[in-house]
Amino acid sequence: MYSPEQLLQGVPADLIRMYEDVAFPKFFLVVSGGNGAVMRTHGLIRDAIANYINIDPTTFTLGTPPTAANGSSPTLWLAADIPDPLAQGIVDARILSSTNITLYTLPYNMPIIGFVGVFAGFTLPNTVMGANTARDLIGTAVQGNSEISQFVQTHRDAFGPQVSSGEAWGTFLASITVHGIVLIVNDTNTVAWRLHVTPPTNDRESWSQLRRLFGKLRIMTALHGTAQLQRAFKCRICPAIDHPTPLCPLPDLPGWLGPTPATIAALEDASRAAAAKAQEQMRLNTSAGEGGSNGRSGTGHGQGPPDAKARRGGKGKRGGDFKGRGKRRERDDFF
Ligand SMILES: [Zn+2]
Repeated sequence: MYSPEQLLQGVPADLIRMYEDVAFPKFFLVVSGGNGAVMRTHGLIRDAIANYINIDPTTFTLGTPPTAANGSSPTLWLAADIPDPLAQGIVDARILSSTNITLYTLPYNMPIIGFVGVFAGFTLPNTVMGANTARDLIGTAVQGNSEISQFVQTHRDAFGPQVSSGEAWGTFLASITVHGIVLIVNDTNTVAWRLHVTPPTNDRESWSQLRRLFGKLRIMTALHGTAQLQRAFKCRICPAIDHPTPLCPLPDLPGWLGPTPATIAALEDASRAAAAKAQEQMRLNTSAGEGGSNGRSGTGHGQGPPDAKARRGGKGKRGGDFKGRGKRRERDDFF
């Protein structure tokens, strides 16, 4: 489950407005493991897409976002000028993964995703019965919350004009589902509950407001602890916000060639190193270019070795990586 809101936050507003002006068909791409070496990434994306749909890699357009300061945050790239059935095929594929690059394809008009967040604090087991109890406890708390009730009944455009406020509220309550996730907190397995609902509204701002109301819930129980919403996760392997990096399901897919929890940090480091090196070479070439002309050949070189080197070097960090990773980096700053 990705968050369109969080992904769009990573793109400057001016750039979003420019993306708006680009003609359909168009779609977004997220690149895993950083995008520091822009031109290199640009080339790899082109090749991956061209290979997938078997077209000439120069026949379509690829909008490149500015490099993120930390070199690792997933940023939206815009792909355009691909004929519609092919563009749809790529969006439907969702993941294009090779040893060189992993692409996540997202529709240009990303629908609102009904993932509210992760409730933690209940002392329930990760079983069907535990999930049912968690769902019922959360459902009862939501049902009794007048702020959420009022908000859903007044922001219910997604249910259609003929649905009454009462019906909308009933549908919303019935749509509450939870999925357990086992987290390691202070070396202890802790079960948290990911909460999904049917979004009552198609308006992004209203949806964000509703999520904030859920963030105010504190569900106290006599027998099962007290739970509240945690910050959303931010997987560094895929764009999802419903699991932390070590629990990303993608590396378990048969034939997965993309990043894993063990390699992602090194890939991001390599991306940052490549970005810094490319910028440095650009500066050198600019000053050298003042006297002469041939400043280009050096830029493309040199980018392979730092990549490979950082990847090898990063392996030793594996153990510490899993446990010692700061929670802040895993989560967004929504609440
Ligand atoms: Zn993931």
